[in-house]
Amino acid sequence: MLPASNLRKGRKGNTHQVGDSVVGMPADSDSKIVPFSRDLAETWADVVIVGAGLYGLTAAEVISREFNKRVLIIDQRSHIGGNAYSYFDEETGIEIHKYGSHLFHTSNPRVHDYVSRFTKLNDYRHRVLTVAQGQVYSMPINLMTINQFFGKSFTPMEAREFIEQKANVESKNELTESLQGKCIATIGRELYEAFIAGYTQKQWQIDPKLLPADIINRLPVRFDFNDRYFKDTWEGLPLNGYEAWFLKMLANNQIKISLETDFFQLRELLQNKKVIFTGPIDRYFNFSEGELQWRTLDFDIERLTIDDFQGTSVMNYAEVEVPFTRIHEFKHLHPERIVPTGTVIMKEFSRRATRSDEPYYPVNSPADRATLKRYREQSEKLANVHFGGRLGTYQYLDMHMAIASALTWSRNTFVEWFKKQ
Ligand code: FAD
Ligand code: UDP
Repeated sequence: MLPASNLRKGRKGNTHQVGDSVVGMPADSDSKIVPFSRDLAETWADVVIVGAGLYGLTAAEVISREFNKRVLIIDQRSHIGGNAYSYFDEETGIEIHKYGSHLFHTSNPRVHDYVSRFTKLNDYRHRVLTVAQGQVYSMPINLMTINQFFGKSFTPMEAREFIEQKANVESKNELTESLQGKCIATIGRELYEAFIAGYTQKQWQIDPKLLPADIINRLPVRFDFNDRYFKDTWEGLPLNGYEAWFLKMLANNQIKISLETDFFQLRELLQNKKVIFTGPIDRYFNFSEGELQWRTLDFDIERLTIDDFQGTSVMNYAEVEVPFTRIHEFKHLHPERIVPTGTVIMKEFSRRATRSDEPYYPVNSPADRATLKRYREQSEKLANVHFGGRLGTYQYLDMHMAIASALTWSRNTFVEWFKKQ
């Protein structure tokens, strides 16, 4: 399997330029990104942020602008943006989301206003299709999916009655606290087996009978023809790409970034420094309370000479026999851009992470929650370190949640934390 970086990167998109009316100049990445030095960390910086993902970027932007502090961000990767990073493929000009399609959506006006300072969004609305039993269906399950699957033309009320009746009968012997039990009690066994069981098994490599029911809460079931994946007030992709957005967040001269710099190689040096840590919390404590479980993803990326591979941005594959969970075709995320020729697709495979893999999704089993509680107790004893973000708090966070959490902490708690010895 090829790593996602096997396509050559262009400096910026060659497909679409927009007039900038958002505030702030884009940062010049060459002067922002500096090699790490002892002097920079020990003398120049007031605060060191570990991780240039959305939590770290938001914290850096607020702390430097609102509290006039000098912030050094370090990241072990060769780019900013954490998992939301994207780059433009040199040959096709298509924007590739290196860690899988990232769709921005929020109903939080504070987050929307904040993001609007740095980027405009396009009009993209996420809709997902899924291949099950040899046919393409609409996902999440809605009236179209139900009618197509059962060969009916139900009204919303008829569909609801039909599904409720099936679900009542078929869920009799199921435990409703499990994902399987909850699904069968909501949609009945046939829809569960066609659309959820195989996909979930591939995604989690755990029998859905043993998975907690809350995993499925993110996926609604609808009895109308609404096929939107998200129901948030605002949704869209950054018009000029994710990297342009993130560079604007770094415009302040009080922020510097050192890439390919691993915190664990220099933690001794940073002992007396105020550190905002957005890496994995269990690794910070040398796994002393045990390891937290994660799922990781492998991506298989291909450039094709055809113009359209699947006609949509994300196609799920519900069958357990198909080894990948979904295929991303990035050009469909930006219908406003003109791509002269070709397309890029990326297959996504899911598996349990080992220590050397990228941690993507917290498994969050009861044992994980107990382990996390012990790490939280340890972290509360450290006056100089604040743990934030997806890895630092062991939480599934969408981008808007990472931004909201960083805004709240930076504005409400930073000053008090900074003074604490
Ligand atoms: P991250 O983005 O993970 O950033 C943490 C950074 O810390 C990384 O850059 C890492 O390299 C760095 N780091 C870790 N350890 C060290 C160390 N020892 N030294 C130096 N640096 C270190 N959200 C949405 O809103 N919409 C989506 O469609 C969406 N899709 C997603 C798809 C996938 C596959 C994944 C994994 C996530 C998705 N998300 C999506 C979630 C989104 O990526 C997160 O909300 C966001 O990345 C959280 O930002 P963060 O700063 O907490 O973490
Ligand atoms: N899911 C499924 N079939 C699908 C899409 C999702 O069974 O076609 C289940 C799966 O268990 C997944 C959960 O719904 O973990 C949440 O879906 P979401 O798209 O939010 O998953 P993510 O990729 O964010 O984990």
